[in-house]
Amino acid sequence: MSLSPNEVEFNKELQKVRSGLELPMHEFAKSNSYGTRICLTQIFIVCVATYLLQNSGLRGVNQVLGSAIIYGVIAYRVQFILHDASHKSLFRNSSINETVGWVFGTFVGVNFSRYRYTHMWHHRLTGSQNDPQYRDYLHGTVSRTRYFLFLVSPLFGSRVFPYLSREFGVGEKTEVAVTQDYHEPRVHPLWYVMALLVVGIELFVMSGFGRYPFIALGFLVGLPTVSLFLARLRAVSEHQDFVNDKAGFTRSHRFNLADYLLLYDANFNYHFEHHLYPGISSKYLKSVSIRVDQLGRPSDTMGSSMSRTLIRGFR
Ligand SMILES: [Zn+2]
Ligand SMILES: [Zn+2]
Repeated sequence: MSLSPNEVEFNKELQKVRSGLELPMHEFAKSNSYGTRICLTQIFIVCVATYLLQNSGLRGVNQVLGSAIIYGVIAYRVQFILHDASHKSLFRNSSINETVGWVFGTFVGVNFSRYRYTHMWHHRLTGSQNDPQYRDYLHGTVSRTRYFLFLVSPLFGSRVFPYLSREFGVGEKTEVAVTQDYHEPRVHPLWYVMALLVVGIELFVMSGFGRYPFIALGFLVGLPTVSLFLARLRAVSEHQDFVNDKAGFTRSHRFNLADYLLLYDANFNYHFEHHLYPGISSKYLKSVSIRVDQLGRPSDTMGSSMSRTLIRGFR
C-alpha cells in the first residue's frame, strides 16, 4: 500500500529522530515488577470504586450515572494494560503479556486478538484513511460547533455501532482488512460465551450480589459511552495536527495530574516516543522523551497537557 506524500513526510521526521537517538541497552528490557504494579493498581482502583459506589447512598438514576462515569473511566484505563500487553512490553515473558491481555480484555468485553490487530494497524498506518482510529480525527477546517459535537458525540452513543461492528466483526470492512496480508483474526464463538459469563459474574459481584442492580446497569452504560468519549479526547490530542493536517502526525504531552487521572496511564502521554519505539516498555518512555527534547523534536510534538491541546481545536 502506498503512502501519501503527507504520511511519507512525517515518517521521515520520525526516522530522523530515531537515527539521532541512542538508547541505552537497559531501556530495551521489560520489567515484571512494572507490569505487576500497573495491573495491581488497576485492580485496587476497581475494588475501591465498587466499595464507594455500593456505600455512596446514591440510588436510582444517580447510581446509574455515578456507576457509568466511574466504571467508564476505569474500563477506559484498562486499555493501557491491553495496549502494553499487545506490544509484549508490559511483562518480560511473552506468555504473561498474552494471558494478562486476554484476562483484562475479557473483563471489559474486549477480544484481545482483535484489539491487537487494530492497534498494530494504527501503528503502521497512523492518520491514513486505513488507520482504525481514522474516524477519531477531524480532517480539514471545521467550525467550533462541529468540533465540539465531534468531541462529545461518543457520550451520546455515536461510537456504539462502529465499536460493536469492530468487536463482532460485522459491518463494513476497511480496505486494510481486505487488501493486506495480515488477516483480521476470527473470534471463536466460545470467546463470546465466555466473555458473557465473565462479565455476568463481574456485574453480579459489582452489584453487591444483586443488591444494587443500578450499579451493574451503569457499568453497561459507561463502557460504550464514557470510555469511548475519553478514547476520542485522547486520540484527538495525540494525533490531530491542528496546523498542517499531516497524516501520521503524533504528539506527546507533559505529565499533568488531571490527564493522568482521566486520560492515560502507563506513560501513554509520551505518545510520540511510543510511536518512535513501539516495542520498548512504557516504563522508559519518559527518559526517551527527555532525550528527544535534547536532540530537538519536530514542531508541535509536545503539548503541555491534553486538555490544552483539545482547547486549541476551538481557535
Ligand atoms: Zn497512536
Ligand atoms: Zn501502541
